[in-house]
Parts: sequence; C-alpha cells; structure tokens
Amino acid sequence: MDIKKKDIRALTKEQLRDFFEKEGDKAFRGNQVYEWLWNKGAHTFDDMTNISKETRQMLEDNFVINHIKVDVMQRSSDGTVKNAVRLHDDLIVESVLIPTKTRTTACVSSQVGCSLDCKFCATARLKRMRNLNPDEIYDQVVAIDRESRLYFDRPLSNIVFMGMGEPLMNYNNVLKAIDKITSPEGLGMSPKRIVVSTSGVPKMIKKMADDNVKFKLAVSLHSAIDEVRTSIMPFNATFPLASLREALVYWYEKTKNRITYEYVVWEGINDKRKDVDALVQFCKFAPSKVNLIEYNPIDDGQFQQAKSEAIDMYQQVLEANNITVTVRRSRGKDIDAACGQLANKG
Ligand code: SF4
Repeated sequence: MDIKKKDIRALTKEQLRDFFEKEGDKAFRGNQVYEWLWNKGAHTFDDMTNISKETRQMLEDNFVINHIKVDVMQRSSDGTVKNAVRLHDDLIVESVLIPTKTRTTACVSSQVGCSLDCKFCATARLKRMRNLNPDEIYDQVVAIDRESRLYFDRPLSNIVFMGMGEPLMNYNNVLKAIDKITSPEGLGMSPKRIVVSTSGVPKMIKKMADDNVKFKLAVSLHSAIDEVRTSIMPFNATFPLASLREALVYWYEKTKNRITYEYVVWEGINDKRKDVDALVQFCKFAPSKVNLIEYNPIDDGQFQQAKSEAIDMYQQVLEANNITVTVRRSRGKDIDAACGQLANKG
C-alpha cells in the first residue's frame, strides 16, 4: 500500500464533494463516487464505470480503497461461519455469522486484539494492536451479509458487537460504522437490530445515553460482586460495580432501553447462591434481562463451565424474582468461533 495516499472511504460525502469542487469538477461527482464506494461496494476505481477514465486516474493518484479481504472462511457443523479478515496492514481480525431458524446474526470485531485483560477471554491474550476504522467494521458486516444470502438465502438480520475488542474503547469509529450500517446509503438496517456489548466503561455508557443512540446495550457482567468481578475482569478495580450501576441507571433514564447482562457461570468462581443473590440485587437497579451463556474453555482450562445444577439454580432464582433470563447455547465451538474464543488461531 502507498502510505502517502489516503483511504478514500475515510471521507464523508461532504468532504468528497468538496474535493471534486477543489479539483475544478462538479460537487455532484462526489455523490457518484460515494455511491460507488458504499452502495455498490466498488473495490477499485476502475469499477466506477460512469466516471470518466481521467477522473478515475486522478482518484487513483490521490487515494486508495482499503477493502478488507476474507482470508480464511470456516464453516462449523452447526452452520456457523467464521471469517478471518485481513486488513490493509496485514493484521487479522475475526467475525462470525450465527444462523438460527429465524435470524442470522453477525458478530463483529471493533479492535485488533483488546486493551482489556479479561482472564477468561482468548482475545485478551493478543493485546490491543489498533482500533478498526469505520469502514473495516462496516466491511465485516457486508461480508457476512453476503455469506448469509449465499448460504442461508436471506439477508443478515442482526448485528452484535461481541467479537474482538471493547467497542466503547473505539467509540467514535463504532458509531460511524453503525451510522453507515443503518443509513439508507449503506445497508439500511434498523438500529434496534444492533447490540453493542461492553465490559462496562461507565463514562462511555453515559456518553452513549447523551448521544441518544438507538441501538441496544449489553454488558458482560459475569459477577455482581466486586471482589469476584475484579479477579476475572481486572479493569473492574478502576470502574467498580457502583460506578457501572450508576451509569446503567443513567442509560435507562435517558433511553428507556432495557439492558441485557451477559453472564457466564464458571465452576468455583461464581456458581454459589450468594453470586445469584448479588445478581438479583444488581438487576433491580434498572430494567434488564440476563443471558446465561455457555462457556467455551480456552486452551489452559483455568475456567470451566459450571455444572448444570448451578445454571438451573441461576435460572430459578432469577425467574422467582421476575427477571427475564435466557440460557444461550454456544455455537461454532468446533471452529473456535464461540464467545471468548476469537484469537486468530490460524
Ligand atoms: S471479553 Fe471483551 S473486553 Fe474482555 S478482553 Fe475479551 S474482547 Fe476484551
């Protein structure tokens, strides 16, 4: 890649219009190029067949189009598809297509590696290398939409930001990508079908509420006891549960959107009655529901899925307290595509 050339997809439509005006062309040319880049998914300037050859050459001289490339695509026996996606600087991230009877969901990455250090997570071992650009996030979704149409004969229906990285540590780019995904000039998806899942960065949760975002919020909670949560998610020492709770109450008051708590029950870590009781108390601060997620051990086996009796206890106690709870089976385990397993093993 020529490092002096700018990624043309980093420009807004207005900036593209300005560029053409400065070049002595019509601003309208910016609209045409923008449409090629986003609606028609042009991978090269030569794809832009209604743009003159001279103009295409001028674009070639000034810009690059940094499309992602699906390097390796794996299909699980349960239909799950995992893409290892190569970026323009040869770094790799992973994204996953999860099909069910009624929906196909894209699980996308927001960073290469992750700056947080959750002990149970394979991505944490990669450390954070860089944030993804909005177009790199958008392209993952487009690639999965294409695979959904190809393999399941239907468009992508939902998106979760639960792949590699902490989305709120790359907030501006995630927001720009979602703008594009939901815009009629992009994929035109409803923001209600998008979930941003965070490990819980209080000031960013408040910022999202202030920004009046329309997508849904999920929090990887895993424990409502500070001591336990800090031992598995060390950043909880900096942002303890009281500050997370305050931010979530603020979120609900502003958005009136119910919060989903993602929760894994591990043997010997959070599988006791006191853990459930703490979760029940935490759920009472703002309208919420709980997803109990099956865990997929990563190589060293330090964390093990709790026994089914512990999951049953969680379910019963939560339901007895009128808290909606779902138990989510994991998908794509055989290709390391399940929650917490994305680590560029290839
Ligand atoms: S669980 Fe999420 S926030 Fe925690 S280290 Fe893994 S990718 Fe980062």
